[in-house]
Amino acid sequence: MSEYGVPVPMTDVRDGFWGSFRDTLVREAIPYQWAALNDALPETAEKSGCMRNFRIAAGLETGDFHGYPFQDSDVYKWLEGVACSLRWKPNPALEALADGAIRIIAAAQQPDGYLDTYYIIRGLDRRWTNLRDDHELYVAGHLIEAAVAYWQATGKRVLLDAAIRFAAHIDSVIGPEEGKLHGYPGHPVLEMALMRLYDAAGDERHLRLAAYFIRQRGKQPLFFEEERLRSGREEAWKGSPLGLRYYQAHAPLTEQRDAVGHAVRAMYLYSGMADVAGATGDGELAAACRRLWESAVRRRMYVTGALGSSEHGEAFTFDYDLPNDTVYGETCASVGLVFFARRMLCLEPRGEYADVMERALFNSVLSGMQLDGKRFFYVNPLEVVPEACRWDRHKSHVKPERQPWFGCACCPPNLVRLLASLEDYAAVRHGDTLYLNLYLGGTLRDGGLVLETESRYPWDGRVELKVTAAPREERSLALRIPGWCRVWRLLLNGEEAAAECREGYALLRRRWQTGDRLNLELEMIPRWVRTDPRVREDAGKVALQRGPIVYCLEEADNGKDLHLLRRGPDPSAETRWEPDTLGGVITVLTTGLREGSDWPEDRLYDFRDAPEARPVELKWVPYYAWANRGTGEMRVWIRE
Ligand SMILES: [Zn+2]
Repeated sequence: MSEYGVPVPMTDVRDGFWGSFRDTLVREAIPYQWAALNDALPETAEKSGCMRNFRIAAGLETGDFHGYPFQDSDVYKWLEGVACSLRWKPNPALEALADGAIRIIAAAQQPDGYLDTYYIIRGLDRRWTNLRDDHELYVAGHLIEAAVAYWQATGKRVLLDAAIRFAAHIDSVIGPEEGKLHGYPGHPVLEMALMRLYDAAGDERHLRLAAYFIRQRGKQPLFFEEERLRSGREEAWKGSPLGLRYYQAHAPLTEQRDAVGHAVRAMYLYSGMADVAGATGDGELAAACRRLWESAVRRRMYVTGALGSSEHGEAFTFDYDLPNDTVYGETCASVGLVFFARRMLCLEPRGEYADVMERALFNSVLSGMQLDGKRFFYVNPLEVVPEACRWDRHKSHVKPERQPWFGCACCPPNLVRLLASLEDYAAVRHGDTLYLNLYLGGTLRDGGLVLETESRYPWDGRVELKVTAAPREERSLALRIPGWCRVWRLLLNGEEAAAECREGYALLRRRWQTGDRLNLELEMIPRWVRTDPRVREDAGKVALQRGPIVYCLEEADNGKDLHLLRRGPDPSAETRWEPDTLGGVITVLTTGLREGSDWPEDRLYDFRDAPEARPVELKWVPYYAWANRGTGEMRVWIRE
């Protein structure tokens, strides 16, 4: 084995901030999504057909397949979310519901292990003929992810056995051997799912297949081209610069320089590549991960952690192209960025990865769900004028309010499974050093060391860690110093700790004693953010961030025509804890200027001096909580 880091899950998460979201998951979002998957939501919501497809495929009902070829994945993601929630909140009724769904899924599986309701219902003779677009391998990936999670949470093997049989079937159809398809997933996820199965069950075949997918992708002759010519299908994205870049399948991954194409696919693919690089010690793949990370994060990521600048292909475009109002910023892409970031932290402990993970999590991931857990964003814009979404075709994908459900409902259950498994993102061990990446409140257990952590993160930068059990030998602890923090202090048993600072962490090595107490104090104040001036949309503008939370202005607090607002000459900011606003948030008040009140009613254009700007107070709220008080304008960046 290589030195790939090992995620160390937190247990007994007792975190005020995430705790309330996770309560909402269990109480509202999970039952709500089950209703959606069974078409039991009110008429206004788009139909799913998901569970019905499984019943038809299992012979329990008659009818035709409904939805997209990847419809099955919605129920798998839901099951994974349920499984993760059962780890921290046992719930026999929910588990019984999941068991019932699993029985139906297992009954739909074919004797040879195949399990995809689209082809089971529409005709098995056509299966494996369109790996590029028909998502069979994507569906398999989500089945495996759900199965491993459910097995780990409950010890029940029904879904796991089904997943292993499907994986074996895939292994018999695709691979390097003569007579097999030399293909790979059109929509990645199976790569990281197989790696998860390999970690859980230790079968080398799963590692081999994942590594094959990663190494085979984009190799000449291009599989997707050969497949297309065989079937006489149209070229993908004909006339668009996307082409096979949409699938990140235009060149071998080791030769790709830029994060391109469909942003969700990219994040899932890079995550799987990092897993394979870590497990096989393949330095060339690790270098490709680093290169693609830098492209995505340093030149193509929004300040909220959103990815995908264009609706065309739900894709990356080019460096520094980050329009705020026509952005795609799919919730799933930010969820995928969190996956990728944790895997980069396993490849090498660098604070930058955790900074990005936190940026996505607290902003563009969390904004995907309404505070009541029953409405969801697919697209996460940084600037919205509701009328423009209605009238402008280039903005019609941007919704000014969260939706009850989607015909393509990838995002809602994706968000659930991530938030339900947050404990897996708290820490990573490399050698005998435990790296703390997310400051959740809870318990960390690792090799005889037990740490109790407490924090009021993200509203307060004070984190306390207590050692409640310690091994005999020396161990290193590495506490992340977030990139947004300028001033910090680390105390060990009340005294300034002699920590070594390395790659965004404060490291302490010693023989820990039961009762040792660490206090990390991170200065958490509102700070103005500016962008690389090459970002045309935001040059000359500022955004506001406090700790990991990015803020925005909403019409509800600041009136209409938010584009008229500028930052005032006084950069100071006042914070206020508002327990009854948006579920309890810190709001920020700053000085500002509002232009244009002296403009004459009857002039669209005029030869006059710059309009007058009068001083106003700007009230900022956390971006993740926008659009929870009715429909209105919103913006993250304002002019200086
Ligand atoms: Zn999605």
